[in-house]
This record gives sequence, C-alpha cells and structure tokens, in this order.
Amino acid sequence: MNPTGDPETDERMEQVYAAVIDRNPGEPEFHQAVHEVLSSIGPVLRKHPELAEHKIIERICEPERQIIFRVPWADDAGEIQINRGYRVEYNSALGPYKGGLRFHPSVNLSIVKFLGFEQTFKNALTMMPIGGGKGGANFDPKGRSDAEIMRFCQSFMTELYRHLGEYTDVPAGDIGVGTREIGYLFGQYKRITNRYESGVLTGKGITWGGALVRPEATGYGAAFFAQEMLQARGDSLDGKTCVVSGSGNVAIYAIEKLHQLGGIAIACSDSQGYVVDETGIDLETLKEIKLDARGRIRDYVERRPSAKFVEGGCIWDVPCQVAAPCATQNELDGAAAATLVRNGVVAVVEGANMPATPDAVASFLEHKVAFGPGKAANAGGVATSALEMQQNASRDSWSFEYTEQRLAQIMAGIHEACYETAEEYGSPGNYVVGANIAGFLRVSQAMTALGLI
Ligand code: NDP
Repeated sequence: MNPTGDPETDERMEQVYAAVIDRNPGEPEFHQAVHEVLSSIGPVLRKHPELAEHKIIERICEPERQIIFRVPWADDAGEIQINRGYRVEYNSALGPYKGGLRFHPSVNLSIVKFLGFEQTFKNALTMMPIGGGKGGANFDPKGRSDAEIMRFCQSFMTELYRHLGEYTDVPAGDIGVGTREIGYLFGQYKRITNRYESGVLTGKGITWGGALVRPEATGYGAAFFAQEMLQARGDSLDGKTCVVSGSGNVAIYAIEKLHQLGGIAIACSDSQGYVVDETGIDLETLKEIKLDARGRIRDYVERRPSAKFVEGGCIWDVPCQVAAPCATQNELDGAAAATLVRNGVVAVVEGANMPATPDAVASFLEHKVAFGPGKAANAGGVATSALEMQQNASRDSWSFEYTEQRLAQIMAGIHEACYETAEEYGSPGNYVVGANIAGFLRVSQAMTALGLI
C-alpha cells in the first residue's frame, strides 16, 4: 500500500486489505483489484475521517450478494454438460446492479468479484444512476453451434431471471457474450416472466430494443479517452501508430475510432497470435472475419498478403506510440511495459478490464506515459448501456449521431473528473489515483447517505 504520511491511516488500510485476503482465500484477481483501489484512497480517508467511522471501506470490499448456480444443458450429440454460473451483485448504492456477463472457460468467483468491484467505481465515474455487478459462466462458446449457445443461454437464464429486473439488476455483454447471446437470454427471460421488460438487459439488437452506438461504445470511448489524455498534454492522436490487443467487440471499435481520430492502428490479436499490417488494419476485412464469420485473426493475412501473422508471441513487441490493451485481464506485464516504454509509447489506454499488471502500471507512471485505467477509459460501454436503459424507459430511440455525441461528452466528463481529482489529491497526471478517488467518493457518499446498508 502507498504510504500516506499518516501511520494510523496506513495501518488501517493494511488491516482492511489483510482481512480481504483472509475472507476471500484463493482469489488473486479480486485481491489485486482491491489492492489497487486501497493504494489510492489513503488521502481521502485523511480528508474524510467520517468514512472510516462508517466503515465504508470495509463495506465496499464485501459484495452485497454473490449467486453461484448450476447450468445444465445438452449438447448437439445429446450429451449432458454442466457449467457453473455466477452473478455478483456488488454494490447498489447508486442504482440497480449493472455490469456484463462473461462466458469464458477461465471464469471463476475471483474474476467475477474483481470485475464487479471495478464496475462499481467505473459506473460511479459515468455519473449515471447505476450500481455495480458482474456475472458469467465457465462456459466456452468457441466451436459451439448456434443451437448449443441457445440452449446454454436458456438454461443460464432459467436460474438467473429471478435475480434480475430493470430496478434490480441489469446485465449486459462482456467476453463471449454479444448481441446473439443477449438475444437468447432476453428471449428466455421474456418467456419465463411473460413480460417484455426491455430495460432488464442491455446490448440488445437494434430491432428489438437495443440502442445505436452500444456495440461501438466501449472501443469508441477508449479512443476518446486516449484523445483527451493526449490533448491535456498539448498533443493529439494525429498520425500516431497504435497497437490494439484483442479482436473482439472492444478492440474492433477502438481501432475504428482511433482511425477516425487520425491514429493508425497497425496490429491486433486473438488468443492464438497477432497480425501486423503496417499500412493500417483494414477494418472491413477485420469485421468480416471476426463479426460475420466468427473466424480467427490468422485468417486476416489470407485476405491481406502484405500483413504478417505471428503465432503466439507478444503483441507489445510491436513498436507503437499508443497502446490499447483490449483483450483481457493481466495481458500486459512489466516486461511488456518496459518494451513499450523503450519503443517510445506516449499513451496507454485500457479498453479491457485490468489488462495491465501492477508492475506494468507502475512502469508507465514512472516514465510519465499517459495511462488511462480501465475503470475510466472503458466506461463508455456501460455509460451507453445506461443510455439504452433511458431509451427503453421512455420508449424512444435516438440517432447514431446524437448518441455518439452523448458518449463523447460522457468520456470528456470522466477524463475531467479523473484529471482534476488527481490534481486535488496531489498526484497530477495520475489517472489511476484520479479514477479511484473520484469513483470511491461518489459511491461512499451515497452509501453514507443511505444509512447502514
Ligand atoms: P470479446 O469476446 O468480444 O473479445 C475478446 C477478445 O480478447 C478476443 O479477441 C479474444 O481472443 C481475446 N481474449 C480473450 N481472452 C483472452 C486470453 N485469455 N488471452 C488472450 N486473448 C484473449 O470481448 P470484449 O471485446 O467484449 O471484451 C474485451 C475486454 O474488454 C474484457 O476485459 C472486457 O471485460 C472488457 N470490457 C468490455 C466491455 C464491452 O462493452 N464489451 C465493456 C467494458 C470492458 P479469442 O477469441 O482467441 O479468445
């Protein structure tokens, strides 16, 4: 934990963290996320001793509710499969629980709790009335037929529906959960409850209650945040070489907006390797491969022979000025950060949740790289989900231009809040401190106002 200069505060934070480890054994990702926030908020406790009195930190470190359930389903061969489903309803001080569902074999309670914890502060930063939650299953959608995906989603929702509601808990997509999965989940919710409750899930298809810009929002938002950080330094994205990891929802639209803002994204990846296209990633080709054909990134070089595919390897070896990790947690470690710094990176923007390890973050901060942490930089997705909820509530649908303009304003607002809070608390230019403190203050003030909950 970073020393605050006040031994009493420091000791208290160490005790809280030790208790978190003790109460949540074997959950390294959750410990990592808690440690990062606790390391930033010491100065807040010194300024607001009443938060310690109300045990706000201890309460924030404990999710309000954790649901774990069996998801049985039959595959195309008729064989019964069993997965484990999760929903962590983390904090509802600011609104209904809000956060995505992840379907990936690596999903476990530690990962869902870390994501729910992060989500709580991220949602607070958007200034929208949404609490924090996250969920998913250790289900691997890769190689599964449409019918299998549908049966899995139906079984998953058959348990989850009783915990949801537009004023209670509103999931969205995340890794492995896109519009197709949200469709199957929503269909089953509607069937069980006999209610067309559009506001119960976000990321819906545009013809049945979805909002324009929601698919693009997280990636676009991350690119807007990179632009804001550079502008704050009197710089811009114009002509900057960018590297974006992943090639899913977030990565594709981060690349699209980086290009529109003048950057040139030359590399992207999936879990099998990465492609480098020095002339700039061709978005049409990328979308055809990943969105239409659900193919692999290696297919890109078949259509663009000037590009090269590197199997395995580390995408951060590719020299760039702007790096946008948009795949998954802990994908950019200290060694990769050192390479990026050596190659002259000036901005790093986290499209994914917690993709940079603590030593990577420390390295970026030490070398004065503009570093946008995920809870600020990728908040555009959930903010646009809140806009989708607004449209559902008013039975309205907004134009692409208007919604994108709202998104850009929200990202500028988040940037400003992080920037100014970091200055106020004595860490100018440190968006990690700024995001953690601004998010924490908003949640803790609401928790205090609502009494002992
Ligand atoms: P997708 O499933 O659309 O894409 C994920 C991409 O990351 C794929 O290219 C995938 O490759 C790659 N990937 C996933 N796991 C790993 C791994 N263990 N190692 C290497 N590559 C991996 O997910 P999203 O784009 O929606 O999400 C990406 C990140 O952004 C996640 O951290 C998510 O939590 C975060 N995020 C997403 C939001 C959203 O609106 N979707 C909102 C805010 C944050 P492969 O296909 O080979 O697995």
